Amino acid sequence: MSRLLVLLIAVACVHPLAAQKTVNWETLKPEILNDYRGLVQLDTTSGHETRAVDFLRKLLEGEGIPTETFALEPDRGNLVARLKGSGSKRPLLILAHTDVVGVLREKWPVDPFSAAMKDGYIWGRGSKDDKPVLTANLIAMLLLKRLGVQLDRDVIFLAESGEEADPAGVGINYMVREHFDKIDAEFAMTEGGGATINGARVEMVNIGTAEKLPARVRLVASGTAGHGSVPRMDNALIHLSAAVEKVGRWETPMRLNDTTRTYFEKLAGISSPEKAAQYKALFNSKTAASAQQYLRENDPSLYSMLRTSVVPTMLKAGVGPNVIPSEAEATLDVRALPGEDLPKFFAEMAKVIGDPAVKIVPIPQTRPPSPASRLDTDMYRVMEQVAKAVYPGAAVLPSMSTGASDQAQLRAKGIQSYGVGPASTGEDALNYPAHGDVERLAESSLYPFVQYVWGVVTEIAAQK
Ligand SMILES: [Zn+2]
Repeated sequence: MSRLLVLLIAVACVHPLAAQKTVNWETLKPEILNDYRGLVQLDTTSGHETRAVDFLRKLLEGEGIPTETFALEPDRGNLVARLKGSGSKRPLLILAHTDVVGVLREKWPVDPFSAAMKDGYIWGRGSKDDKPVLTANLIAMLLLKRLGVQLDRDVIFLAESGEEADPAGVGINYMVREHFDKIDAEFAMTEGGGATINGARVEMVNIGTAEKLPARVRLVASGTAGHGSVPRMDNALIHLSAAVEKVGRWETPMRLNDTTRTYFEKLAGISSPEKAAQYKALFNSKTAASAQQYLRENDPSLYSMLRTSVVPTMLKAGVGPNVIPSEAEATLDVRALPGEDLPKFFAEMAKVIGDPAVKIVPIPQTRPPSPASRLDTDMYRVMEQVAKAVYPGAAVLPSMSTGASDQAQLRAKGIQSYGVGPASTGEDALNYPAHGDVERLAESSLYPFVQYVWGVVTEIAAQK
């Protein structure tokens, strides 16, 4: 532990050969800020990712790190760089997506691609999602090379396109399908975690270890078409609305996995007595139902972590006020727990609906089912240890995202993949989130995050 603290805070003693090389984080701050702001200033909304590839290539090759570009579409390139290790261990992949979601300019107090610095924040689209991770990975590569760190395993850098929107499969799908040998690794680290600031300190660090699978379906109700002046018992709209009501209120079964069990146990340890009692009550069959009800009412995100969730999101029916349509349909956003038996789940759903006039039609999935990453790997242990060193006093929790990310494709290929992210206050995460109208990151969150990523990379990959 003391070695780790020394490594992170003052001197990088990663190898006898590099023993005299130091990372002075104070003097590195301007470079980190400059690279980060440079990336935020690039408008890399979907279709323009190659701008980031060009920016990164210049910096990496400027320091003698060779790069390769893989592009299914010229404007949506992916960039790979590899620092070779001894090969005694399998590679580490550090990746981040370069694309950002679109902006409504009138909502922004500053130019969304200016990386303006105001009130201690850097403002801009991508300032949280995903340019902090992209920057931290870049700095890690530059430092490994500069310090001549000897590696036990290759460190692979991937800047990927199309995480936010990828109907053509130009990003991770393309890399996994066509160039998997370039990114195959034992461990991966990317977006999908985070940290929470409470008062002046980081209270909780989340390591992303699992995510739910979007497994959407359409409910299609059929009936007899006819004139709106004649009531019919088999009106498709009546059947559909009854079905939507039933599945919308359906309490799907609670199922904990290693990640969520550990998460709720540890969360209880840092929560108010009232909340802690509810989290602990989940583990007792006598009290689990009331604890779930508490979460359903007070914290729907935590409620969603307990189960495969079913949320009606769209309705479609009818051509005119005086026409009974022969068909009516609803879309359900189903988010499945890792390992969910979907055919069985949909059979249960059919029973809940209990109406042969309503069919459940699965919508093709855009991501593969992915298992949770393990909590007993060297990578998880290192991440936990480094998080505690960089954020003293913080609780470190594995977490399962209710959303979906490119980690699914990596986990599906057998890579143990883990999510990281910079720290935010709860208020900032609520008011200036990823994909929000306005996005920003506290400058004071950027530097510790870069140190965290560097600490993990060196601890897991550098020669011992
Ligand atoms: Zn993202």
